[in-house]
Order: sequence, then structure tokens, then C-alpha cells
Amino acid sequence: MHSRVVKTVCPFCGVGCGMYLTSDGQGNVCGVAPEQDHPISLGKLCEKGWSSVYAISPDNRIHHPLKRKRDRFVTISWDQALAEISTFLQDILEESGPQAVGVISSARATNEDNYAAQKFARAVLKTNNVDHCARICHSPTVAGLKQVLGSGAMTNSTKDLFDTEVIVVFGADPTENHSVLGGQIIEAKLAGATLIVVDPRVTRLAKLADIHLQLKPGTNIALINALLHEIISNDWHDRDFIDNRCDGFYALKSNVEKITPESVAEITGVDGPLIRQAAERYSRANRAMILYGMGITQFVSGTNSVIALADLALICGHIGKPGTGINPLRGQNNVQGACDMGCLPNVYPGYQLADEVDTQQWFAAAWGDDVATAPGLTSLGMTKAAQAGDFRAQILFGEDPVVTDPDQNHVRAAYKAMDLLVVAELTMTETAKLADYILPAASFAEKAGTFTNCERRVQRINPVIPPPGEAMGDWQWLQALAEAMGSRVLNWHSSEAVFDEMASLTPSYQGMNYQNLDRNHGLQWPCNANAPQGTAILHQQQFPIGRARLTPVHYVPIDEPADELFPLLLTTNRLHFHYGCGSMSRKSPLLERETPPGILFINPQDASALSIQLYGPVGVRSRRGYIETRAMITEDVQPGLVSMPYHFKEAPSNQLTNTAQDPVTKMPELKACAVAVIALPVD
Ligand code: SF4
Repeated sequence: MHSRVVKTVCPFCGVGCGMYLTSDGQGNVCGVAPEQDHPISLGKLCEKGWSSVYAISPDNRIHHPLKRKRDRFVTISWDQALAEISTFLQDILEESGPQAVGVISSARATNEDNYAAQKFARAVLKTNNVDHCARICHSPTVAGLKQVLGSGAMTNSTKDLFDTEVIVVFGADPTENHSVLGGQIIEAKLAGATLIVVDPRVTRLAKLADIHLQLKPGTNIALINALLHEIISNDWHDRDFIDNRCDGFYALKSNVEKITPESVAEITGVDGPLIRQAAERYSRANRAMILYGMGITQFVSGTNSVIALADLALICGHIGKPGTGINPLRGQNNVQGACDMGCLPNVYPGYQLADEVDTQQWFAAAWGDDVATAPGLTSLGMTKAAQAGDFRAQILFGEDPVVTDPDQNHVRAAYKAMDLLVVAELTMTETAKLADYILPAASFAEKAGTFTNCERRVQRINPVIPPPGEAMGDWQWLQALAEAMGSRVLNWHSSEAVFDEMASLTPSYQGMNYQNLDRNHGLQWPCNANAPQGTAILHQQQFPIGRARLTPVHYVPIDEPADELFPLLLTTNRLHFHYGCGSMSRKSPLLERETPPGILFINPQDASALSIQLYGPVGVRSRRGYIETRAMITEDVQPGLVSMPYHFKEAPSNQLTNTAQDPVTKMPELKACAVAVIALPVD
């Protein structure tokens, strides 16, 4: 083995920063360096990117297939694992049918792995039960933007931050979660852009903002409707854009006619004059862009909140031009790609509807086998059905729902109720601990493929070291499992062959191949005969649905407000030094040192009333569970509100969170639930 350097992409967040990895010639990655001329990261990486070496280090990696023997795992061969899993799956399919089995793919895996996962589900298992963690982050984005604009993705590019007059950051905390982008927002602000932040917490960007609308959690729609009212009643809307490109304006206008800023002040907690100022700054700018995150989507009103934001951008004509748009900040490195690949129960690759006979027939013909026809279950639908005894087997890779999904006790019970759980992972996660079989997976540094970042840019990743032990890429073991089950529909000899098949069936990827991705620092979809160089800005001339559909929506309160028994409202957040379930970022001693496990942010007023000391131990109880952690006393949360990250298995906030769901997408309300907090004796 020789030492080598390869160009690749950071495996953490959806910004998709470019980096080089160096191997030491002994099978280890020994160096990380930012790619100086990368079009997004511009020669920068955040602490997580710099620490990616730790995420994939051989320590604690799973090297061989493992099988549960009562309370422990024993090493078995790949042949034995595949033969036994295949027999199990076939028995369950025979006894209970394809609705009883399903696949959870991974927003951390490549497009090739995700394409293979949904093909395995639909053409081998014959089920549409396929999903991934977008369910609990941006499924409302996919549904809401598709409803209004016809396409569920970021409309513009990150470089537009330097070409705009007003940046609105709504329900997102980019300096923590998308740090390189967060830095670019600060740079744009310092260069003269107006910054408006809408967030219940005083985030780092809120401290720098020209206007901070510190609303109560879950009151987004009330606030946006008041902004719409103010803009329309002052005639600040873009009449030409609306006349030429939108339907539904008069219904929208009538819906917000009486929703003045003052009328929502009590609901939102934001003073009317501040809402008026924000409405004027946003609507009267020549170019203004909205960036949003899970402070919009993770509510029972998530889809309607996305729709309301799209309405706001449309009536101001802030779409289809540089420096504008409505721009969801996708969380994980390839969550956009996993959605694009059709790892959702209702769509095939390229968002082709799974319930349309034409789609089913097209993919059946292309794949040379029958495909699933019955509607599929979401990830939370699968765990719910497992508890009812209607769902029996799940194949899961690169996700840890026991830590990341709401109501952890319910999720754990559901996994224990399944007859077969197969988990492919890098390390032993909380979900893997419940598995019947654990398969050793290859990391991003050990395989070829592509990731699609939040601005729809499809970028190549390249292997710098071989996988440890017997670890394999996900599409490779899925293909081997399909073969063990007697199916030849997954039949590729390389990642490039998987990509080429996927691109031929996915209209927005049709013009891409590994060569042109390499030549161009990746390409942004749609990339096809009409746009061979890809598309930096969507909707410049028209929307995929022709004219945009302005859609009136109504404010709906959160499902579980604070009450006498549970007097504080808990919201969840993420931290700069950690990522997701922590299985990658917590392997870094540098990142771990910065934020010790568990933390509850609480306002000084509440801390004083509850006799809670700074860093003192606290117990937090909701209707679903109880955890113990430490208090961080800070004015960054309002009185009555507490906040916790979900990265730490020692203090899992998802023991507490609510499973109430957005009716359209089944997104759980992770951003608000009622809790009681008590001070514990100091140890
Ligand atoms: Fe990686 Fe995101 Fe940090 Fe960029 S901003 S280095 S993609 S974690």
C-alpha cells in the first residue's frame, strides 16, 4: 500500500465542503485538508470537517458480520450472514407478505447506496416500505415546496449569499449546524447585507442580526401570515411577478386580511412594530433570500409552515433570480440525495410518484422484474406497525433511530418486537445493540460514489483506504443479499454502473456521469439535455408545475403546550461540535472535549425559581420519559423554554419528545413538548 491523497467531500453536514484526505500507506487516514478552490467551502472546513479522520478510525469499528447469541454477538462469515438473513426474510415474506418488511436507508450513505436500497425494497422485497431520516428533518420541505413550486429543494445556491441585500434565517442555526455556511452569512452581513433572524432562541446569528423576531415555538404560521398581511396591505408585493407566474393570490390575500401584526403579538410573543419592520425590509429589497431549517419543519404544522414561507417569497417576487429564493438547509451530508434517490415510501428516484401505474411499469420494465404496488409505510409507520405485530423485519443502515427518533422508549420496544432486525454500521450504535445481525459497513473514505449537498450539487467521493476487515459498501452487500434471495435485479460491477443506471431513470440527473462531475466540482440538478451544465437557480422562467400555486394556510398550535404538571416547554437543538446521533463526531476527542455529554439550556429566572445551579444536575420529565443531565443557565432561551441537543445517548432528549405528527408527512413534533425540570442533589 502506498500513501496517497484523494479529493472528496466532508461526510457531516449538507453544506458539502470539499476536502482532501491523505492515507499513511498502512490503511489509515492521516491527514485532512480543505480544498482551496472549492465553489462552496472556498478553502474552509469547520471543526467537524477537520475531525473526520476520527469518525472513521479503526477504533471501535465493526470488522466482521455479527450474529446475536442471546445477550452477546458472535462473529460469523458473510456467507452465513447472508444465507440466514435471506432465509429469515423469505419466511416472513411467505407468512406475512411484503407489508411486513421494510428498509431504512441512510442520509449519510452515497446516492449509489440509497438507489440500491430503494431498488432492493421495491424489486426484491416488493414493498414500498422504504424511508430514511428525512422523515424527521425535511419531509415537510419535500411536500410543501412541491405543492407550491413543483420541486422540493433549495431554489438557489449558497454563493448567492454574497449577492443579496437581505438574508432571512428562519428556524435555523447555521453557525452550529452548517458552520461554514454560518460563517459566510456573517461575512455577507459584515459586507452590508441586512440579517433578519426568526428563532425562539438567541442564536449566535440572532446576536448579530438587524432584526431578531424571537417568536414562541410553533407559531411560525401566525408570524408569516402577519408578514403577508403587512406586505399586501402596504402594496409592497410584486404585482407583475404574481400576475405573470402565480395562481391563488386573492385567496391568499383574503386569508390574511385580518391577521395584522398586532393581532398575532400574543400568540407569537413578537411585538407588532418589529413584524412590520421585518416585512418592509424583506419585501422592499431588490434581492432577498430565505434560509430555513428544522425550526420550520419539525412541528405538526411543518408542511404548512413550508408552504407559508414559499408564499412569502413568491408574493415578493424573491424567487428565480440570483440572491433570492427559498432555501432549506438540509442537515446530513446526503439527505438531499437520499430523497432524490426515492428512499421515501411515496416516490421513486426523481420524485416519480410510487402510486402511479406508469411509474411502476416504467421501473418494472427498466429493472426487468415486478415492483411493489401497495402504498408504503414511513419509518415511524414501521415502528408503530411493529408494536401492533403487523411489521416483522427491517433492514437498516447508517441510522440510529433509537437515539434520533421521538419517544425513545416506544422506538426501542418496537425494534424489540420485530422478528428480524439487520443493521449495517460502522460502529456499535444504540440501534445496532438491538439487532439480530450486524453487518460491517464501509465509511465515506473507503468507497466511491456521490453525495448531493443542500444546493442540489452532486459531488464525487473517492476511496483513500480500503474498508477495515470484511466491511463492505452498502450497495455491495445489498446486491449480495438480493443474490442470496435468488434475485439478480441488483447486478452492478462498480459504483459508476449504479450511478449510470440511476441517472438513466432519474430525469433531473440524466445529464450527469462521473466524468462531468469530476470536471466541474460536481453539478447541480436538474442537469440534462436542456441544462448540460446543471442549474444554479431553479424556476427562472417557469415552475415545474407551470404557475406557482399560492396556498393559504392557517396557524395550528403545538400539540402539547406547557401546563400545570409539565410547566416548561422543551425545544431541541444541535451543537456546533456534534452531529446527529454522535456515532461519528463523538469519536473525536477534540470535539468531545468541547461539549461534554448532555446539557439543558435554561433561563436564569426559571433556574432560580427551581434552585438550579450552573452546571448542576437536573432531572427532566415529560409524559413519555425521564432523563438526568446538567444545566446551562443562559439568557439565550426565554423564560418558560428549555432546550436540549439530541446527540448524547447518556441524556437522550428523545426520551422526552412528542410523537404527534404533521398530518401530511408524519413528521413528529420534535421541536416542542411539555416537561417538568427539577434540581437534583449535587454529587
Ligand atoms: Fe463538513 Fe458541514 Fe463543516 Fe462543511 S460545514 S466542514 S460540510 S460539517
